Amino acid sequence: MKRCNVVRVLSSKEQVKVLETLGDRCAALWNAANFRCRQAFMNGEPVPSYATLCAEFQGDPAYKALPSDIAQEILKKLRKAWNSFFACLRLWKKGELEKRPGLPRYWKDRRTGKRLVRLIPVKSPRSYSMDARTLSLTLPADLRDGNGRLVLRTKGVLRFSGTPKTLELRYDRVKKRWYAHQVVEVPEPARKARPEKRAALDLGARTLAALAIESLERQIIFSGREVWKDFLYWNKRIAGEQSKLNQAGRKTSRQLRRLYRVRTRRLKHAYLALAAEIARILKRHQVTTLFLEDLTGIRVDMEFGPGNLLVHNFWAFRMLRNLIEAACARAGVKVVFVEPNGTSSKCAVCSSPVKRPVRHKAVCENCGYVWHADANAALNILLLGSSKGHGAEATPLKPLALRWNRHRWVSRFESTAGTP
Ligand SMILES: [Zn+2]
Repeated sequence: MKRCNVVRVLSSKEQVKVLETLGDRCAALWNAANFRCRQAFMNGEPVPSYATLCAEFQGDPAYKALPSDIAQEILKKLRKAWNSFFACLRLWKKGELEKRPGLPRYWKDRRTGKRLVRLIPVKSPRSYSMDARTLSLTLPADLRDGNGRLVLRTKGVLRFSGTPKTLELRYDRVKKRWYAHQVVEVPEPARKARPEKRAALDLGARTLAALAIESLERQIIFSGREVWKDFLYWNKRIAGEQSKLNQAGRKTSRQLRRLYRVRTRRLKHAYLALAAEIARILKRHQVTTLFLEDLTGIRVDMEFGPGNLLVHNFWAFRMLRNLIEAACARAGVKVVFVEPNGTSSKCAVCSSPVKRPVRHKAVCENCGYVWHADANAALNILLLGSSKGHGAEATPLKPLALRWNRHRWVSRFESTAGTP
């Protein structure tokens, strides 16, 4: 599997100039090739493939100003951007997207119209080398001095070791710093042969996740309250900045981009901790397979914050699901997706319909059991996946509730007592 190492690049003033020049040339090639693609698209001609782009631009000054490993990678990235544009267009034509996707953009500042330095992709480890302290790159002939390579110091830990693949030097406009993202191919962790044990996870809004494990009497639920409260706070800050910008007749600012980033990172922090906690619990119970409901099954049952918060921030769910999938892959737990099938509207013991007197409760009409609605849904997913067919063995117990204290996921007991 592929993993990514990210380290910060430290550079002297001269080196920054070299990086900026390289980045500007990348933008020039991207824009030139993108102009060609956009013209083709608007004239109803086929958009050139990667091979065609390479053949057409090989003699171009913008291409020749870069080492070929960088120039080729720019063209490849551009073609990938067009591929995803076409994929989105197909979805839109099927009615699965609200807005018509826009054409791949030029790398330029919308306000000033100037070219924008965004990234320098390097195709193969032939033309770069990176160790714990330094990163060195081959330079185009006119930028070379002494040894012909650009040697940069780096700061950060290479978390993954494996076969090095492509490298990307990215300029962070918010922090005004360069970062190196290196892809490495890491061997899959060997899965030990263990007896099959299953668990299921129900994702939602009010309860971010409810976990049911085979032969474990109590389910575990992760409350979304603190996480969304924090998210809403940053939403307000963003709205404030936007109205300030509106009055000044501007669309965006560095501060706005910073606020968006803080909001995302704080949410991701809670999600990463949640995914890690779930992986830890699954490992402790020696679970081998985790059933996850398809994303279409997510219920927007918020009782705090505006109800449309999630409609506009659906990416947040995708992020949570992806992080859980990744954490499970690291822990050697197989993730299986199941079709949602009324998992929250029937009783996990007798599969009779349930009533929902309040949002978080489900009362069975037949056996009279009172469930925590999300714990019941998780159990139903578990039953759905286990092909056992009907009925959980246990009667519903109050689930173990964990909440986010902005550092860790803790139970109510732990949070009052401080550290456990
Ligand atoms: Zn029942």
